[in-house]
Amino acid sequence: MARIVMKFGGTSVADLDRIRNVARFVRREVDDGHSVIVVVSAMSGQTNALVALAEEAGPAAAALDARYVEYDAIVSTGEQVTSGLLALVLQNLGYRARSWQGWQLPTETDQRHGRARILRIPEEPLGSAIDSGEIAIVAGFQGVSENSRITTLGRGGSDTTAVALAAAIHADRCDIYTDVDGVYTTDPRITKQARRIDRISYEEMLEMASVGAKVLQTRSVELAMAYNVRLRVLSSFDPPDAPGQGTIICDEEEIVEQQIVSAVTPALDEAKISLLAVRDEPGRAAKIFTLLADANINVDMIVQSPSRDPGAANISFTMTEADLDRAVELLTVQKEAIGYSTLQKDHNVAKISVIGVGMKSHAGVASTMFQILAERGINIQNISTSEIKISVLIDSEYTELAVRALHQAYGLDKANSAA
Ligand code: ADP
Ligand code: ASP
Ligand code: MG
Repeated sequence: MARIVMKFGGTSVADLDRIRNVARFVRREVDDGHSVIVVVSAMSGQTNALVALAEEAGPAAAALDARYVEYDAIVSTGEQVTSGLLALVLQNLGYRARSWQGWQLPTETDQRHGRARILRIPEEPLGSAIDSGEIAIVAGFQGVSENSRITTLGRGGSDTTAVALAAAIHADRCDIYTDVDGVYTTDPRITKQARRIDRISYEEMLEMASVGAKVLQTRSVELAMAYNVRLRVLSSFDPPDAPGQGTIICDEEEIVEQQIVSAVTPALDEAKISLLAVRDEPGRAAKIFTLLADANINVDMIVQSPSRDPGAANISFTMTEADLDRAVELLTVQKEAIGYSTLQKDHNVAKISVIGVGMKSHAGVASTMFQILAERGINIQNISTSEIKISVLIDSEYTELAVRALHQAYGLDKANSAA
């Protein structure tokens, strides 16, 4: 019999009815004789509400970091509720089920509150519990630090809990149930032309997640790739007795028909800062980006260009919108030390990425992208690339137009496919 990890996201456990629906999916696997761990998120909207409450309460009296210690104590509670509720629902159906919080496993993490990384999850006591026929309902998203404080794994972190557990207990598969029936060629909320992908490589999924496709948390894909976890994305809105096949995330070699471009991914929660007339001398960029890194702010696209002022350069870079105010504050305080004339910030930007392992061996993907955008009068502000990805930063107003046009240009539209 197999060991299976099933993860259900916020919309899948949105209320008691949805939780009862989850129980149906779980029963099917248990009745088939499998050992099952279920990882749950908080009810949809709950984590946002908790984050808002924590922010309203104001910063902690001590250092900035102290705020995140309490932030984690607050925002981790959503998963505590859903894990208990699902255990109760299953018990009332006559099953042996028990909830597990992060500290009870324990899910050991580092101390980076708000975005902690899992260091280790022991196989026991969970492995024995599920092999004895008990269903383990694990609160996702949360862990415990070395000094016994609750930590959280960053937004969307329940995916990572699920994959880390699957690796820890050597699960045969890890099924991520959500509100879409798989990974799509682009966010299905943006265009009806988006198509479900049957199989996608770890590498491509990793790029998609890291450039902003919310369907899986980036860290979860990294872990799945590192530990060879058999990962599947499928819908909890399908009939529990006959779910669809979903999307399998697997090694590239397992994919027969490889596209040049597999997906177009928009990210709207981007923001840009431009520092004008930074003195053009060694060490300036180091100063700026060390300042941001020390504050745990991830910087993405960076462009340096000559300034009109002689001996100076303009440096512009992007980060997630959530980090913008903090970054502006830090850079403003350090204005003299960094040595720039003006700081400009911009919320109204979006990053559009095209992803595909086929890019390794095919030329022309970038030129098509630039041409399509140019034909639509869309200006490119920044560009960044990896071996299998090209991202551009544009005015957010053009997000949908750009996604639809690129999706079509790379032959990803439903109408273009054989199916
Ligand atoms: P959950 O609460 O189950 O974790 P999420 O909201 O985190 O669900 O992720 C699912 C959502 O991801 C979908 O509703 C969809 O709008 C969005 N999404 C973005 N890009 C994609 C994509 N390429 N394929 C599928 N879903 C995507
Ligand atoms: N509840 C958390 C969030 O909303 C974790 C998750 O859903 O994966 O980010
Ligand atoms: Mg999610």
